[in-house]
Amino acid sequence: MTASPTRGAAIELVTVGHELLLGHTVDTNAAYAGQRFADAGVRVVRRATVGDNPADIAEAVSSALDRTGMVLTTGGLGPTRDDITKHVVSELLGMPLAFNDEIWAELLARWQRIGRVPSESNRTQAMVPTGAMVLPNRWGTAPGLWIPSPRGTVIMLPGVPNEMRNLLDHEVVPRLVDQGGGVVRSRTLRTAGIAESALAELVDPVEEELAPLTLAYLPDVAGVDLRLTAWQLPAAEADARLTAGSARLRDLAGQWIYGEGDDDLAAVLLTAARAAGRRIAVAESCTGGLLGGRITAIPGSSDCFVGGVIAYHDAVKTALLGVPAELIARHGAVSGEVAEAMVRGVAERTGADLALSITGIAGPDGGSETKPVGTVWFGLLDCNKVTAIHVGFPGSRPEIRARAVQAGLGRMLGSLVDTVGGGGGGGGGGGGGGG
Ligand code: AMP
Ligand code: MG
Repeated sequence: MTASPTRGAAIELVTVGHELLLGHTVDTNAAYAGQRFADAGVRVVRRATVGDNPADIAEAVSSALDRTGMVLTTGGLGPTRDDITKHVVSELLGMPLAFNDEIWAELLARWQRIGRVPSESNRTQAMVPTGAMVLPNRWGTAPGLWIPSPRGTVIMLPGVPNEMRNLLDHEVVPRLVDQGGGVVRSRTLRTAGIAESALAELVDPVEEELAPLTLAYLPDVAGVDLRLTAWQLPAAEADARLTAGSARLRDLAGQWIYGEGDDDLAAVLLTAARAAGRRIAVAESCTGGLLGGRITAIPGSSDCFVGGVIAYHDAVKTALLGVPAELIARHGAVSGEVAEAMVRGVAERTGADLALSITGIAGPDGGSETKPVGTVWFGLLDCNKVTAIHVGFPGSRPEIRARAVQAGLGRMLGSLVDTVGGGGGGGGGGGGGGG
């Protein structure tokens, strides 16, 4: 990925809490802030997590101010002894805490509404650094704080995710958007059936031409996503550049691109099958129903998907799919011959005209020198044409199974439309996000 450009408003995030470091709590605040700031055109240039420890909080905030001049902290604003962010920042900036009567009155009223009296420790929530702007918290008790200082701006929000989100949306982002920073917007193209390195060879030549958009490769077992991002541009310009950039990527790698955003390959396949009036069936060995599961997870799948057989044991391949026992004995259950017989069998028995079989070695045991773990054979039936396809997938058992399902969906889609490597069966094909 190319570096993000350095113009426009920038901010650093510091999330505070031992529980975040210990992994007991996932840092959803940082993820949420990242997304919302991107929408608002504010570049998050760095984020750090520190424990509830004065020296660490002070160092993180101080160095963020030195680098970037604007920092958002979350956490440590509560009434308990471990909530120290406010104290540390007030000392760091030389802005002593003072008791704020208005905040205290609001806190009292809030507790009264629920028929309770605040404890003495709640008084610390009414302490505010002199010169800070109070961001009223209608969703909880600790207000947010916006502190302008000669060293830069520190924005402090409570850690409770619901409070943090509401304060960010209603109090922080509107104030930053007023500064007119443009938007940060992304568009994602989804590929399947091609490895990241092979995709990079196709796309790399235009990376500079795409500037000021940046391009990221995001590999996953489902394939490699290509994400274009426009940083801090006016909204209309960002959209126009993203549209042009996506078109350029489709020129180069369109054969492997099946969708955009969070499109699901199974849904794309069903849309194509529906348009073509096709009936789909599957015969699964090593994926044990995952392929049928992916397809039937899509609402409305029943108008093209007729069903499938989980033929795990060889006897079931023979009894329910009509695979000759002798064929299995001669070539092994994981073979092109058996994959072809499986797919023929399921199509005959279900009346499907688009069918896929999967037989492979998902591991961790069962591999051999000639058929290592990750060896998968697919049988693809498209009307009367049957093709056997061999792919070697990397990874653990769950990864191999997920990759096999995704590749199988891609092969079916590819035989319907000219995409995800469609227009022909054989050959290896990438592992989809290997690495
Ligand atoms: P605090 O404001 O530090 O007292 O945190 C209050 C609650 O919010 C605790 O239950 C924390 O686990 C949770 N919390 C704090 N920071 C985060 C974060 N960055 N992401 C998600 N939850 C958090
Ligand atoms: Mg905390």
